[in-house]
Parts: sequence; C-alpha cells; structure tokens
Amino acid sequence: MGLFSKKTSGGTASAFQNEKQKADIIINSIDDGVILIDSINVIHVFNPSASTMTGWPANEALGLDYRSIVKFVDDKGTSIEDSQHPFHRVLVSGKALRDNTSVLLQKDRHQLSVDVSVSPLVGEDNKVTGAVAILRNVEEQRKQDKQRADFISTASHEMRTPVAAIEGYLALALNDKVTNIDAKARGYLEKAHSSTQHLGKLFQDLLTSAKAEDGRLTNHPVVVEMGEFVEKLVDDLRFSAEKKGLQLEFLTGAAQNDAAKNIDATKKTIKPLLYTHADPDRVREVITNLFDNAVKYTETGKVSIGITGDNEVVQFRISDTGPGIPKTDLPHLFQKFYRVDNSATRTIGGTGLGLYICRKIVELYNGRIWVESEVEKGSTFYINLPRLDGERARKMQTEEASAQPEIQNAKL
Ligand code: ADP
Repeated sequence: MGLFSKKTSGGTASAFQNEKQKADIIINSIDDGVILIDSINVIHVFNPSASTMTGWPANEALGLDYRSIVKFVDDKGTSIEDSQHPFHRVLVSGKALRDNTSVLLQKDRHQLSVDVSVSPLVGEDNKVTGAVAILRNVEEQRKQDKQRADFISTASHEMRTPVAAIEGYLALALNDKVTNIDAKARGYLEKAHSSTQHLGKLFQDLLTSAKAEDGRLTNHPVVVEMGEFVEKLVDDLRFSAEKKGLQLEFLTGAAQNDAAKNIDATKKTIKPLLYTHADPDRVREVITNLFDNAVKYTETGKVSIGITGDNEVVQFRISDTGPGIPKTDLPHLFQKFYRVDNSATRTIGGTGLGLYICRKIVELYNGRIWVESEVEKGSTFYINLPRLDGERARKMQTEEASAQPEIQNAKL
C-alpha cells in the first residue's frame, strides 16, 4: 500500500478517512474502468466498471498479473504481444499513452471496443512505481462510426462510375475532332467538365478517408530506405513545380540540419541510411499530397523537400514560400473538410480531405504530422516516422525476402 499512498499534509485521521471514502465513491461509481497496477504488473485497484468491461469480478482480478486479466486483440482478433500492451509500454517508457483503437478481449472471449488512457505513477527517484489505466466503453460509438464509413464508402464508390461517364462524355463534347460547338457552349462545357473532375476527386478522397477510418486502406508495410526513396520521388515531382515556374529544392542529411525540428539531426554522416517500416505507396501518397498543396497554393518562389533523422525518427519536411496559414486555422488543418477561408485559397479548388488522409496514413505507422506557418512567409509541413536502426532493418529485410517465395507460390 505504501507504494501508492500519497503524503497527506496534517489532516486528521477522520478527514483522511472521509477523503478516502470520497475517492472510493468516485472510483466505484464512474462509468469508466479504472485499473491500478504496480511496477511488477500486479493489479491493486479494479473498479466495478473495469469488471463489467473485462468480465472479471474485482475479487478475482485483484492481486493478479494484469496480463491474465486485461487482454487486447488487434484488428484481426489476434492477441497483441505483451511488449505491445499499453500497460507494459507505459511501465517501460514512463510516458502517458492514449489509444483510441483498442479492442478488449473479455473473459468470455467476446470483444469490446475501448479507448484506453494509461498514466505512469512516478516515485521520488523518478522510477516508475506503477500505472493507472482508464478504459472507456466506445462499442456503440465505433459501431456508428463504422456504419457511417460504410455508407460513405459505398455511396462514393457507386457515384464514381456515373461521374466518370459524365466526365468522359464532356471530354468528348469538347474534342474538336468529334464535335463542332460554338465558343459559348465550349465555355459552359469546360466549366461542367472541371466541376465533374472536382466531384470525381471528392468521391475518390471520400472513399480513401472512409477506408482509412475503418482500417481497410491497402497497406503492405516493408522496410524502406527513405533517403533514396524520397530522392527518386522528388525527380518525379520536379516537373509540376517547374511547370508553374517554382524552384524545387531537395535537401538530405546534414545539408538540411538547419531546418530540422526537435531532432538531433545527424552531423556525422552526409547521407545516413534512413530506414522505416511503411508501405512505400502510402508514403508516396502523403508526400505527393503535401507537395501538390505546396505547388497549388504557392504563386512564386520555392518548394523545398527535405529528409533527415536522428536515432528515433525519420523526418520529412515540405516547405513553400506561399501565402502561409493563419494561426487560428493551424489547429484544425488536419480535420476532415477543413479549408482555410481566405481569398488566396478560395479560388483554388480542393476537397479539404487531403491533409486528413495524410494524418490518417501517418498515424497508421505511429508517426506524427504537423505544420508551422507564417502568413505571407510560407508553410512547412513535417512528418516524423519511427526509424529502424540498420541492424533491425537488415534483419527484417531478410525475413521479408524469405517470406516472398511463399507469397508467390500461394498466388500460383
Ligand atoms: P485541399 O483539397 O483544400 O487542398 P487539404 O486537406 O489538402 O485540402 O488542405 C486543407 C487546407 O489547408 C487547404 O484548403 C488550404 O486552405 C490549406 N493549405 C494546405 N496546404 C497549404 C499550403 N502549402 N499553403 C497554404 N495553405 C495550405
């Protein structure tokens, strides 16, 4: 008990008793599951909501190792490894953790969607002495989210086909070799054509964001050396920047140290190997999206792409000399359908879904995306993805290579 007791300053025994009673009343009556564990994984508090959610009565759970009571499964229903358990991660890292995608495996093997928040308890010598976990039942909310995502994805999928047909016929109507129309009709059809293209892009983005929300986004992560990957990608992107008269700059490793954010960019090697575990197609999608925005919103000047890293992360940077984004808009930028409402961007078409999709993809790889911007100076978007050290990357690459023939055989 001494492990978790808080020092009380001069209160009487009865006042303390009252305080304890009050705390017990709160813990026992709230709707969220509250679980307290110590540093050797033993459960010390297990409130009634925790019992309801896990299916384990408190008198059975108390005193046991949490790993036999609070179990989580991944999206395929497989139990997650002990090292990935949120309680374990907090005990090891000493950092608080939130997970809004967790699924609890109940005593009777049923599954329950929960949001998990775990905070470490830190002793006087900065040692982690335990952790407090709050579990929130979000079964109903996730079901509704899934229904909404399913509806959006079916509707946008169905609507893409007729929209593509309309776009095709409008393109034919605008083709000199096929039709003969006057200038006025051409003007109207051109407007209809570009609106249809916009609609097609909207349905495509809606479909992608619905897939990202319910975990159906195609995702085949492999070990990728991002330095070389981004260098090649920049070559592909160069044309569209230069077509608009914008300069395109690519900086890697030490050359881009000045622009790197919150990381100890390596000073020793000019070109370090920056390995991550991600689907290259998805990473391409994110960088291309940020780059397309940079080009789209920038009238003159430069777009710059940079890549660097420290021991923990690989950091991508896409900067422009465009109109910048007002401070009040910055916190909302990665939300669905958010578009900055100003004269500079109002005239430029877009769906407001691009950055939302980028965030969803980056989060898929436990990464982080954020922006820094100053109006009239330009914007810089950053992405941090977890970095794999060389040894681990090579080991995983060998495993990937040996798994490859099996996949091919399976296809035959
Ligand atoms: P959109 O399809 O509207 O470009 P995004 O989600 O990609 O949607 O971007 C959301 C909004 O963020 C844009 O509408 C624009 O107002 C702002 N924005 C994004 N990138 C930039 C940039 N590089 N410079 C200025 N504004 C930007």
